[in-house]
Amino acid sequence: MSVNAYSWLSDSLVVIKRANWYRQPRTVTPLANSQVIVDGQTLVNFASNNYLGLANDPRLKASAIAAIEQYGTGTGSSRLVVGSNELHQQLEAKIAQWKGTDSALVFSSGYLANVGVIASLVTSQDIIFSDKLNHSCLVNGAKLSSAKVIAYKHCNLQDLDNLLNQYRSQYRRALILTDSVFSMDGDIAPIAEIKKLADHYSAMLLVDEAHGVGAFGRQGAGVISQQNVPQPIIHMGTLSKALGSLGGYIAGERNLIDFLRNRCATWIYTTGLSPADTASALTAIDILQTEPERQAKLWSNCQILQEILQIPIHSPIVPITVGDIQQTIAIAEQLQKRGFLVPAIRPPTVPTPRLRISLMADHTEAQIKELGAELLNLRVVNGTK
Ligand code: PMP
Repeated sequence: MSVNAYSWLSDSLVVIKRANWYRQPRTVTPLANSQVIVDGQTLVNFASNNYLGLANDPRLKASAIAAIEQYGTGTGSSRLVVGSNELHQQLEAKIAQWKGTDSALVFSSGYLANVGVIASLVTSQDIIFSDKLNHSCLVNGAKLSSAKVIAYKHCNLQDLDNLLNQYRSQYRRALILTDSVFSMDGDIAPIAEIKKLADHYSAMLLVDEAHGVGAFGRQGAGVISQQNVPQPIIHMGTLSKALGSLGGYIAGERNLIDFLRNRCATWIYTTGLSPADTASALTAIDILQTEPERQAKLWSNCQILQEILQIPIHSPIVPITVGDIQQTIAIAEQLQKRGFLVPAIRPPTVPTPRLRISLMADHTEAQIKELGAELLNLRVVNGTK
């Protein structure tokens, strides 16, 4: 008797729908002034990681177009074959200079950078200590590595210290993994303190700055720079959020980068980053280094929302818990009816559902005040204004 080998898919989809976890991408058309069109409706976009508004900057567009004219649309092969060009070299040198490291390596996405680097640095003889709320690519990189993985309590130095003390000596190499800014909670890891523990226990430390870049540190270089954390440290970041492009990177000591070029499967066996993405990221870093006013505007926007809602805001990511999944979806729908795109983030992305507001330098004071007023109106937060 033959059974349809794919019938479990429809059963699984029924379960996903019943739990209110079912999602589909919406088609979004970007407009000027932090607005987007979704299903024919114009909304103010409070859902994007384009923190500094650079994804729409004419200078990034111009450098992407010029790069396509000179180098074509694709690189045609992996970096070690014939897929490396001058733009990659310039971008890697630029990232290293901006981060204050010896070297850097550019990947096709931040996700690939994390997965590949973790899996090449540790194996089954080694151990990983990972913050409980780390991003999916750190979690999956740890799984792929086949190292022993221990999740420590979120940002809890005492727990990390205890676990390092208990397990470190039983393994060959150790690697600590943390986001710098947690993508769904918006809080900040105590990286300087984690680094002290890493040094004490001879552990490597990888910090994912995907949401730290742009908002934190000198020239928006991230939380490691803001907290003055000494080298060596494995800096990971993405070109796709504050930098307005696509791709990821690892920056660190010369030997680390040299090793990755020879051992990291998600860099070696994939096609080199496209000329347009590489060139626009280069221009974006130039802008971060020369226009600090964008970073300042982002923080003044955070300040405006904080004053209205009377809740502490640690980064441009502002999570607001409003109840169970259905209530969270209902509030997101009401906000959408009033012209605001604020996503309802739900399991399995996060353990507890929440609204996730992302602030951008491009938001106007009026847009933030209107959103704040609406949130107070819906009694989502107990502000005093
Ligand atoms: N790390 C974190 C913390 C992220 O939020 C993301 C993207 N959501 C990534 C890594 C992956 O970056 P990319 O989008 O460049 O793949």
